[in-house]
Amino acid sequence: MLIQAYGAQAGDKPLGPMQISRRSPGAHDVQIDIAFCGVCHSDLHQVRAEWAGTQFPCVPGHEIVGRVTAVGAHVSDFSIGDLVGVGCIVDSCRHCNDCDAGLENYCDGLIGTYNFPTPDAPGHTLGGYSQQIVVHEHYVLRIRHPEEQLAAVAPLLCAGITTYSPLRHWKAGPGKKIGVVGIGGLGHMGIKLAHAMGAYVVALTTSESKRVEAKALGANEVVVSRNAEEMALHAKSFDLILNTVAAPHDLDALLVLLKRDGTMALVGAPATPHPSPNVFNLIMKRRSITGSMIGGILETQEMLDFCAKHGIVADIEIVRVDEINNAYERMLKGDVKYRFVIDNATLSA
Ligand code: NAP
Ligand code: ZN
Ligand code: ZN
Repeated sequence: MLIQAYGAQAGDKPLGPMQISRRSPGAHDVQIDIAFCGVCHSDLHQVRAEWAGTQFPCVPGHEIVGRVTAVGAHVSDFSIGDLVGVGCIVDSCRHCNDCDAGLENYCDGLIGTYNFPTPDAPGHTLGGYSQQIVVHEHYVLRIRHPEEQLAAVAPLLCAGITTYSPLRHWKAGPGKKIGVVGIGGLGHMGIKLAHAMGAYVVALTTSESKRVEAKALGANEVVVSRNAEEMALHAKSFDLILNTVAAPHDLDALLVLLKRDGTMALVGAPATPHPSPNVFNLIMKRRSITGSMIGGILETQEMLDFCAKHGIVADIEIVRVDEINNAYERMLKGDVKYRFVIDNATLSA
């Protein structure tokens, strides 16, 4: 079936309208009319070929929400009309240690929502800047938020789970001091989630303008990281720093803020490497630097349910699909509070 989509034909070309095809639903497939799709900084990295290996045409988008329009004969958990989401994963091997552990995100056979091999045309997956998607039932998430919040739920499918998973893994909660670095799409969700988990949350930002806003998101304190004196007040005090910054930067200035045995989890994925940290900042206090990639399917459902229970959604600005190139420029300038979400109805306008 041919549908409308928005994507790029090359890394140095703007995104524009295109037609793509979607397979007919197989026995285990769920067909979804996409209502909204969040705009992740990863979309920009990938479609502009900042990361290696972008396949063109590239249709980004992995923060997908919408309604089920058809289900395959063997699908029992979803029915036509259900509100559902699809995040960064549309398939995996389903039999390795990672899949068995519910950590499909670490499966070597992971198939991402865009830019991964598929038997479907054109040979690689195409994402949520499109009218419709067909996904195996295992990778479809149930949305329990009220329908009015649907657009603001979309960013939970990547920004939400990518911050929720490391916060849970490194046990954010009462008595823990958590730093969230880079208050963009991921970072603003990190603040909301760590706050809801009961942790003491400090936002670290390069933007003076976010000093007040980050508190409204749930931060107990805000540090403008360009100010060395403010940073020094937090030396050796954090249990966990969740670093979401999308560009290379000095990791040492953050490492020294960790207490003994503290951890800095990198989730930001800049196109070029960070300058190497000073090994003494690791040795002296047995600190760790680690990374984390999105989250598994079960955990993504757990995160969605946690957010529904706590009334958590993203702070969003809805855009028309033909505003996407400008939205990317604004995202690069940090001019988004805090996630763009495409109204996919504008694909047919
Ligand atoms: P975003 O909305 O653009 O937010 C990034 C934030 O980083 C900005 O708001 C800004 O915050 C800060 N920042 C940007 N440039 C900076 C610079 N040069 N120096 C210092 N701080 C800077 O991006 P996002 O969608 O949250 O994504 C963030 C990163 O995570 C991207 O690299 C994306 O690809 C990656 N990502 C990874 C995963 C994963 O699974 N690990 C999943 C999704 C996304 P302040 O104004 O507060 O400083
Ligand atoms: Zn993403
Ligand atoms: Zn697997």
